Amino acid sequence: MTSLPFTDLPLPQAMLDNLTAIGYQEMTPIQQQSLPLLLEKRDLIAQAKTGSGKTAAFGIGLLLKLDPTSFTPQALVLCPTRELATQVANELRRLARFQANIKIITLSGGVSIGPQIGSLEHGAHVVVGTPGRIRDHLNKGTLKLGRIKTLVLDEADRMLDMGFRDEIKQIAKETPPSRQTLLFSATYPEGIQALSAEFQRDPATITIETRE
Ligand code: ADP
Ligand code: MG
Repeated sequence: MTSLPFTDLPLPQAMLDNLTAIGYQEMTPIQQQSLPLLLEKRDLIAQAKTGSGKTAAFGIGLLLKLDPTSFTPQALVLCPTRELATQVANELRRLARFQANIKIITLSGGVSIGPQIGSLEHGAHVVVGTPGRIRDHLNKGTLKLGRIKTLVLDEADRMLDMGFRDEIKQIAKETPPSRQTLLFSATYPEGIQALSAEFQRDPATITIETRE
């Protein structure tokens, strides 16, 4: 597949300028296949190996849907571990530089909950976190998901392996049914289909073959 530049997509100029500034010119294969569908607000199952640029694929999509004037969570990204949540949040912050005042916070387990409650009180547009801690915030009433437009299950295969199915279910129930749900994964085990059937509407499926 020939690689295409981001300028082939109907992206705002500020987004394109920032992609150039952070050194992204050509789309990776998963970005090339998923972004046109993502921008049409389709639900997606997207599978491509680690390191293929999945974060920017869902990140560009969710960032463009934010209303910066509304300081309430509008996108939620669930990740299997604290380290991955931190990486995803950092990548989203780089991608979000096209627009001023986008607040992205992490809510992961293994760190104290007090400062997280503080940052939620200050308001955030995007929440990235691990399923257990996100559920804890929902149970405490410190996180509200009624304005979520995009729900991302990142590394969905690993979250299934780690037994997060019940947490994901409880979290998804708190988000509006009209949300866009994006399921990203490095592998495509059987459980992914069942997970998709539970949370997605008419998803498009994209798999990028790995040639050895
Ligand atoms: P994955 O989630 O598929 O494992 P990441 O989203 O972590 O992959 O991306 C892997 C690396 O590729 C990151 O360092 C990221 O900054 C970089 N990257 C992503 N998209 C592009 C692009 N279009 N051009 C150049 N580098 C990119
Ligand atoms: Mg990733």
